Amino acid sequence: SKKLANDYVHEVYELLKRRNSDEKEFLQATREIFDSLRPVFAQHPEYISNGVLERLTEPDRIITFRVAWEDDQGKVHVNRGYRVQFNSDLGPYKGGIRFHPSVNTSIMKFLAFEQIFKNALTGQPIGAGKGGSDFDPKGKSEREVMRFVQSFITELSKYIGPDMDVPAGDIGVGKREIGYMFGQYNRLKGGYEAGVFTGKDPEHGGSLGRKEATGYGTVYFVEEMLKDKGLSFSGSTVVVSGSGNVSTYAIDKAIQLGAKVIACSDSSGYIYDEKGIDLKTIKYLKEENNFRIRDYVKVHPHAEFNDDCTKIWTIPCDIALPCATQNEIDEKSARILVQNSVKAIGEGANMPCTMEAINRFVANDVLFAPAKAANAGGVAVSAMEMSQNSMRLSWTTEEVDEKLLQIMKDIYSSCLYAADTYGKPGNLIVGANVAGFLKVADAMVAHGIR
Ligand code: GLU
Repeated sequence: SKKLANDYVHEVYELLKRRNSDEKEFLQATREIFDSLRPVFAQHPEYISNGVLERLTEPDRIITFRVAWEDDQGKVHVNRGYRVQFNSDLGPYKGGIRFHPSVNTSIMKFLAFEQIFKNALTGQPIGAGKGGSDFDPKGKSEREVMRFVQSFITELSKYIGPDMDVPAGDIGVGKREIGYMFGQYNRLKGGYEAGVFTGKDPEHGGSLGRKEATGYGTVYFVEEMLKDKGLSFSGSTVVVSGSGNVSTYAIDKAIQLGAKVIACSDSSGYIYDEKGIDLKTIKYLKEENNFRIRDYVKVHPHAEFNDDCTKIWTIPCDIALPCATQNEIDEKSARILVQNSVKAIGEGANMPCTMEAINRFVANDVLFAPAKAANAGGVAVSAMEMSQNSMRLSWTTEEVDEKLLQIMKDIYSSCLYAADTYGKPGNLIVGANVAGFLKVADAMVAHGIR
């Protein structure tokens, strides 16, 4: 049965490579899953006979569309819009929308694919999807963003809905963009469908605690992992890449738990503050305004700025939290982190470590919290937002936070349990992949071949 399982995984991966040969990120994400799943297929022949892996790696559908919009000078621009509806066996398609010039089919597909396992891990009734556009919000006026979003949603509205597909934010999309999306969607539908987007402003249909959820959840998860080894955020030095939504609230919670966060970044560089980063300044620069991280040194002249954001990983620290974007830690950065005796890595971003980087960490016994588990807090609270919207009521910040903490602890134990059961004790990467997979695979078998 072991050979059968290996042959099956090999065969499906060869098919995938042939069919998606130019999709680098998607192949990277699927490869990691396949490596983890071999022992599962050896114990579950019904997954093989039901073609679970072939079906799970081909999205239900991919929607691409033209997004035409006019800039403030009256010039017309065309961007490409995407929505990958990957799997809906556990609930409506669910996942963020990313606006970034790097967006392409491969990136959309890898993100939607990761979302399957992540969303399953939360234990909430949500399927998986992802969307976005190669639109670059950088340097655009508020009205340009509004016009772009209205054009984007005019097309996307045909494919989404509270029981169908529920988008949220991701890189380049926050509550302002979600507000415009929600407004345009309701205008087209002629009503008010509260649950069609999550990440809405809590004043206008959103959930308290949603904006903090991904960053807080990542730190909650990493703290559980540390506790098991007699370690803690308390008294540790931490480096966090990024300075967006995930990063800001990871820094916030790490500080609350007694850590000293000494660096964060944006695409233009990183800042190093040996006294510990001042969170108020980060929020002022990045959340309340659209400034660059280099402006931090204007407020805190003792801090240092370096214009190469990838060099942030050369700073010695106990805990590294990559919260910026995919593949931001490569093998070279991983080697430096290991040399500097890093104890734990927590992935706040999606797939921030390359495969080679992960292997380096694992080989050197660095504790590793994989994204699918560690950053699931955001989408978990999105699911809570959907619940509140359906019930037409709202929970307090405390209620949401308490549920979030419990979910992160539960995810941690199910990862440990799955890793144990399938012969990789303590390996949370395998644990997250397997635990997420089992939930979806069982539903796929139950729902029949289609
Ligand atoms: N974009 C976030 C993620 O990567 C959140 C998705 C959501 O809330 O639907 O999980």
